[in-house]
Formats: sequence, structure tokens, C-alpha cells
Amino acid sequence: MKDILELWKSRLGLNSWSINIEPINSEQVMMPDDIGDDDYFIGVSYDHNIHKATIYHDVPLDEASIVHELNHIIFPHVECGPWNDKLVGYLIAIHTEEN
Ligand SMILES: [Zn+2]
Repeated sequence: MKDILELWKSRLGLNSWSINIEPINSEQVMMPDDIGDDDYFIGVSYDHNIHKATIYHDVPLDEASIVHELNHIIFPHVECGPWNDKLVGYLIAIHTEEN
């Protein structure tokens, strides 16, 4: 997943960011951000001042969930939900056509 993260950092202009992926236990979840239903958690915390972010997850990550979390960094006002997921599908489609 680290390779996919680095690839999308580059594609989305986030090369100056240091972004970590951190697995967590479901019981630890106290984050304001989540996607999907309550059965799992994926979220990101980020700091635009120091260009650092951490993606937390308690289920295996896939490409779409990584792009979803990176969108939160790029567009801080975009919440989880249909808009973000449409954007994810759009971005992946563009880059799939390119390759
Ligand atoms: Zn989200």
C-alpha cells in the first residue's frame, strides 16, 4: 500500500507531504472522520502547516480508500460521502486511461 500511497501523492501534487499509514484497533477509534458504515474505520488526520498526515485504518486499505483520504487533505471542506467517492472514481478513471 505504501507504493500506491506514494504513487497517488505524486499524482495529486502531495510530494511535499509526509504521510504515514497506521493500523489501529477498532476499540481505539475516536476520530471524527470515517467512511462507509460503522463496521470499519478509515480516517486521516493532517496538518497543513507542517505537511504531515496519518491515515488510520482498522481494515485493509485499497487504492480507492487511499485516494479518498488524500482528497480530504487536498480539499479540507469535502466530507465523506457521495461527492468524495465520485471524485475518487473520477481520479482513478483518469489515471487508468493514461496508463
Ligand atoms: Zn472520508
